[in-house]
This record gives sequence, C-alpha cells and structure tokens, in this order.
Amino acid sequence: MSEERLSFQAEVSRLLDIVAHSLYSEKEVFLRELISNASDACDRLRYAALTQPELSAEDPDLKIRLTTDAEAKTLTVADNGVGMNREDLIENLGTIARSGTAAFMNKLTGDAKKDVGLIGQFGVGFYSAFMVSDKVVVLTRKAGESQGWRWESDGRGDFTVSEAADVPRGTRVEMHLKADEGEFLEESRLRRIVQKYSDHIALPIVYGEGEEAQSLNKASALWTRSRNEITPEQYKEFYHHVGHAFDEPWLTMHWRAEGKIEYTSLLFVPATKPFDLFNPDRRHRVKLYVRRVFITDEAEGLVPPYLRFLRGVVDSEDLPLNVSREMLQHNPMLAKIRSGIVRRVLGDLVKKADDAEQAEAYATFWENFGAVLKEGLYEDYEHREQITKLLRFRTTGAEGLVSLDDYVGRMKEGQDAIFYITGDDIDTLRRSPQIEGFKARGVEVLLLTDPVDEFWIPSVAEYKDKKFKSVTRGGADLSRIKAADEPEKPAEDKPAENDLGSLVAALKLTLADAVKDVRISERLTDSPVCLVADEGDMDMHLERLLKQHRQ
Ligand code: ADP
Ligand code: MG
Repeated sequence: MSEERLSFQAEVSRLLDIVAHSLYSEKEVFLRELISNASDACDRLRYAALTQPELSAEDPDLKIRLTTDAEAKTLTVADNGVGMNREDLIENLGTIARSGTAAFMNKLTGDAKKDVGLIGQFGVGFYSAFMVSDKVVVLTRKAGESQGWRWESDGRGDFTVSEAADVPRGTRVEMHLKADEGEFLEESRLRRIVQKYSDHIALPIVYGEGEEAQSLNKASALWTRSRNEITPEQYKEFYHHVGHAFDEPWLTMHWRAEGKIEYTSLLFVPATKPFDLFNPDRRHRVKLYVRRVFITDEAEGLVPPYLRFLRGVVDSEDLPLNVSREMLQHNPMLAKIRSGIVRRVLGDLVKKADDAEQAEAYATFWENFGAVLKEGLYEDYEHREQITKLLRFRTTGAEGLVSLDDYVGRMKEGQDAIFYITGDDIDTLRRSPQIEGFKARGVEVLLLTDPVDEFWIPSVAEYKDKKFKSVTRGGADLSRIKAADEPEKPAEDKPAENDLGSLVAALKLTLADAVKDVRISERLTDSPVCLVADEGDMDMHLERLLKQHRQ
C-alpha cells in the first residue's frame, strides 16, 4: 500500500505550533515523555502476555533502548512493547490522545510566553519530540500482528502513514534533531536526563546496541525501594509518570502491608484538581500490579469512588498473576486491600486535618476534593465517622473553613440543631432572607454549595446528637434562642398579634393554592417575607436542582 497523507486534528496543530516555537529551556523533558510512553507500552504487553504468552515469546526481555547516530544526527528511543497498528497510529499520534495533553490544552492562555511555561509543567506527551526535532519517524509493529508501519512528520500540519517491512515488535521513535540540539547525541547528557526524570522506571533503559549497551537506570520499580532511598524529586517524577500528572503531589503515602495480606502502596494526592474528577464514570486512577507486573488501571474494587482523586500504584503479593480484570471485581483479597487503603488514606488525611499548622494546606486539599470525599458519607457507612472529621464548611460565623467540632463548640445556649442552607453560590446564600434571624441571634449557619450536600445531609442526619436542620424549612425553631446583640424591641414597634393574624389570613386567601401555608416567623429581621419548605418536604434547593436535571 502506498503512503497516506493525513492532517493532524486542529488542536494538535495548535499544540505543535507552540511546541515548535518554544524557547523553553528545559527541552530535555521530551525524553521523559518518550520513555514514559515506552514503559507504558511494555507494561501493556506484559499484561497481555499473561494470557497470550505467544505475544512476547519471540523477544521476551522487555526494555527501552536509546541509540544515536552522530552523522545522521538522530536520537532513537525504541521499546519492544505492545506496538501500534495503522489505526492506533492515526488515533494516538494524530489527535490529542489523552490525559496530560488534554489538560495542557485546557490551560492554554493564547499568550505565547505563558503557554511555553506550561510545557514544562505539563509535558505534552509524544508531541514534545518536536521541541528538539525537525522530523520524527516512528516505526512500529503491534504484538500479534505481522504488518509493520511507518509514521513520519515534520510537525507542521500533517503526517504520513505507510506500510513498512521487517519492523520488530514494539515502537522506535527516531528523532532527526534540529541543528542546535546536538547535545542530545551525547551519552553522558542522556544518562543525566534519564537519572533526573526516569530513574523510577522499572524496566532497563540502555544506551547503545547489543553487547556494548550501557545501563542508564537502576531498573527497579520505585515502590519496591525503601522510603529512605527515595528522594522527593524521584517521588515527584514517579507521580508525574504514573498519574499522567504534572503538578506537585500534595501528599505522598508509601507503605508496605505485611501479615495476612501483603501489598505495597505508593499513593499520591494531587495538589490541583484533575479535570476529569466529575466524569460520570467516577473511575479511580490507581494502577494495580501483581508482583511487579502491571495488571490494570481499571480494578473497580481497588479504591472507592469517593477517593478517586488518588494516583499511584498498589502492588499485591497474593493475587494470582493470571487474575482477569473481570474476576478482580469479586475477589475477596482485593476487598481486603481496598479496606487497608481506605483506612490508611483516611487516617493520613485526618492527621493533616487535625494539624493546626497545616490548616492552609488542608484548605487547599478541601477546596479541591471536599465535594468528592462527601460522597463517602453515604456510600461508606463503615468509615463515616472518619470522613466526618475531614469535613470543612463555609459558614456565616467565620471567614475561613470551619469543622463540625468548631461549629458545635460555638453553638448558642438553647440551640439544639446544626443549621444549614444550601444553594448555588456562597454570596447568594450569605444574602438570603432565610438566615437573617439566625445572624441577628448570632447563630452560625453552614453555607453549602456542593450538589452532593443534598444527599449526605439526610443520610448522616446528625452530629454529636445535634440534628442537621435546613433554615429554609418550617421546622427551624429560633424562639428559644435569644437574639445576641438586639435589645428587645419596644412594645409599640411590634405589630399586635391580632393584626398579624388578619394579615396571615388575607395572604392565605390571596395566595390560595400557590402556597401550602403562611406562618409568622422569627427568622426574619429586615426582609418582610421569605419562602420556606415544609418540614417533611423536599428542600427548596434540591427541588430546584432536580427540576434542572429533568429538563
Ligand atoms: P499519553 O501518554 O498521556 O497517553 P502521549 O502523547 O504521550 O500521551 O501518547 C499518546 C498515545 O500514543 C499513548 O497513549 C499511546 O497509546 C500511544 N503511544 C505513544 N508512544 C507509544 C509507544 N512507544 N508504544 C505504544 N504506544 C505508544
Ligand atoms: Mg505519554
């Protein structure tokens, strides 16, 4: 078949334009990206070969090889992993394939200088090869298929794909270096880059051909090393690789469970909110390994959905290697690992939350992931108490975030409930007439703006014997709490009971079926009226939310 010429997806062209014109000084990150892809490709092959050994039989020692050709000025990154066929090539190296790159595109500002800065933070995956090359050739053959393919591009709008003969299994990315990028032909330079960014990779990364090849890394999985042998930089690079993330880890948790079940976990909480956090699938991103062999990043039962912000790996010593992804779901061993992970992660989070010196750091975490954690309040009864300790709120009583213990500690004499109001945004809530009477009495009200609040409140119902009560419902009783700063109003200011009675009667008559009832209320100070839901009825904000969704 002859050569096909195809255009890059528009977003890719835009991306390549930034990449090609970048004066970004740490261009060396392109190597990190290519090695990361090669390592993923080997992981995927190793898993596939568990059930289809013939896939890797001809060349079973998985590795990544860097070679250079000083005359041709090429640097090649080759792996003997899973490889790609024609469809894979077009899909993966012609569009914005995934994760890191998509996040990068979302952050683009249009200001070239700022956007170039983002390359370093995000990396742009495969396309970063064009930071140092004016032509890239990919030769690849997919495991289990006989036809090899050649992909070529100068990174300016289009690429070609054609059949290629005698391609070994896996992928070779051949970079034709730009005139002033000769440094990437030097072994010592390559070695330093690999040590800086890719030392955590569990596969051998070698330089050169055949017997002469030099090893560039330790080739032991990072999580199998002991904590005191791992630098914060190495943890960070591993987090970037495993999580397809480019921020700092907010929290790093690395531990080995021993005893009845044995596993090693290296888990991270990101410092920023991943863009797919609220995808309807609520999938977590923790990779499951069994004795160093990558199994899946879709082990549903491994991490509960309310901890889906976690990134990292869990490596089990006990699960059978040939466990299929489908069988995993009901595996009791996996359930035990999961409960170990939940206990440990929640425990570490509670420590952070309790540490007054870390309040600011904890607030960052809470703003990012609080809404996700709250799902655990009704989905994981067993750990509800611990999750409750992690809760933080905006309230009428304080500037910063408030815990339930703070709230209960400040409750007024005669106050028997935790009052809250739900709505779309804090500012509107602060101005709602329903909370006037509470403010006047110095009674703190929780201001809830996450849709999930409508679900956990009814399910949790109370904290330390204090019921949660919505201020937009009839049942919120203020009569037993004295207004703090307001002196009793002089008698002549108060309308007579009789007058009020006839006003209420008149209103009921006029509004007829539009309302269920009209009542005299203690909850207002400045506004003449407000709407509330009846005690047993659905909360008003929830009703509005549901209406929106039914549209
Ligand atoms: P990401 O790694 O975040 O998915 P990349 O731009 O780095 O994004 O890579 C895009 C896709 O191209 C990968 O997801 C993978 O499917 C494919 N790919 C890249 N390099 C290789 C490789 N060496 N072997 C097999 N597939 C690869
Ligand atoms: Mg990648």
